Amino acid sequence: MIRDNLNHILETITQSARNSGRDPLEITLVAVSKLVDLATIQEAVDCGHFVYGENYLQEAAEKIPHFPSTIHWHFIGHLQSNKAKQAVELFDMVETVDRLKIAKALDHHALLLNKNLSVLVQVNTGREEQKSGVLPEDAERLVRAIAQETTLQIRGLMTMPPFCADPEHSRPYFRELRELAKQLAAQGLFADNERIELSMGMSADYPVAIEEGATLVRVGTALFGNRNYEGVN
Ligand SMILES: *Cc1c(COP(=O)(O)O)cnc(C)c1O
Repeated sequence: MIRDNLNHILETITQSARNSGRDPLEITLVAVSKLVDLATIQEAVDCGHFVYGENYLQEAAEKIPHFPSTIHWHFIGHLQSNKAKQAVELFDMVETVDRLKIAKALDHHALLLNKNLSVLVQVNTGREEQKSGVLPEDAERLVRAIAQETTLQIRGLMTMPPFCADPEHSRPYFRELRELAKQLAAQGLFADNERIELSMGMSADYPVAIEEGATLVRVGTALFGNRNYEGVN
């Protein structure tokens, strides 16, 4: 089942890229494995998939050591500064940096561990009160401060638009993230301004995100099926 789902998603990624004149190799599937058990993740690993996203540090700390270090892990959940050390130890990329304090905490531990940590700055394009992320108008100041005051590799931006069953509803938010990234790249604020990562698109809307320039799509349900939230705080 995982193999079929994975093949279907990879085909959709390829098709969406071609439809919009992009190279499918620019796009990486981040398989969102939160609340997915080890055996099921292993199935995806056995299919040759190497990039996973986790939301909860405690859960990630229990799962990640079971896999070889060739697997790449992205942190996509809300991060508190007092958990920065654990995040640096476990993850290759933190996609959800949205304030200078957390960037500095990550940098501190990355330096201690001599680890080259990649980060994305999360932008709250939908301006939702309950969502994390810096507001679009504050993104430039934050990215500039992180670039000046830390050694973190700022690879690009991430967003999670307001939920809506209609994927077209997400398009303006994806477009806004791309435009914002372009403005920041023009000022040379990213680690590599020729290759900016845009993490956007989930199970319901990743084809639209790819049409709007996504380089990382975070897909959980379409790959692993429905999650069981029982027992999660
Ligand atoms: C859970 C989650 C996803 C995956 O969502 P699906 O709809 O299951 O594909 C993507 N991004 C973030 C930040 C998430 O928390």
